[in-house]
Amino acid sequence: MIHASLALFAGSAICAVGSSITVQSRTDMPLPRLAQLVTRALMPQLTAVVIEDTAWTEGEVLRGITGALTILGQCGLGANRLTLLRIRAPVAFHDLSTRESRRLAAALDAPRPTLFFVRDTRNRPAFDAEAFGSQNTRLRPELTHTVWITRQAPELAEAIAHELFHILADDGSHSDDTANLMHDRTAPGRRVLNSQQCAKMLEAGRNAGLLSEQ
Ligand SMILES: [Zn+2]
Repeated sequence: MIHASLALFAGSAICAVGSSITVQSRTDMPLPRLAQLVTRALMPQLTAVVIEDTAWTEGEVLRGITGALTILGQCGLGANRLTLLRIRAPVAFHDLSTRESRRLAAALDAPRPTLFFVRDTRNRPAFDAEAFGSQNTRLRPELTHTVWITRQAPELAEAIAHELFHILADDGSHSDDTANLMHDRTAPGRRVLNSQQCAKMLEAGRNAGLLSEQ
């Protein structure tokens, strides 16, 4: 898959969303402890947003998130709770587009990290998935610690894990190791994180308030 690293974009004005975006359902669920080793840090909260009429099903999203947490579990990262929001929004919000996506993220104001499952992207260059850390959102703070996954992302578990690593570690860099999760093209089986990557993800995630001590 093709995805963005933490690229910089210019900010744009924010407009009130009003009542055109509605939350159709909210499901809170515990997440199983998936860390394969001793749990060294905990992600207390993860939010997933599924937009109606974007062809995403809640079942495939849940399978993707579970797979991603299994991958990140190799670092000793555990997760506690998932909130799944199913929303209805005008078609302008169905794709990742910096202007509209800022409005959507601001309207929902969901706990972070937040994963948005969208149809496609109107941003250029077009990436299958994008992650927004703290470094690339100074001019668009509504997007801080959000991940956007399009229908073009072919390996869902790897895509979610890869983008979550970007925001937890606040690191947009990639690995040359073709077995590494952070290779610039995710692929089935590319799931390895080395000890330095794990340490950076856990430390930066704690510093950002996204992770807590076990
Ligand atoms: Zn990347």
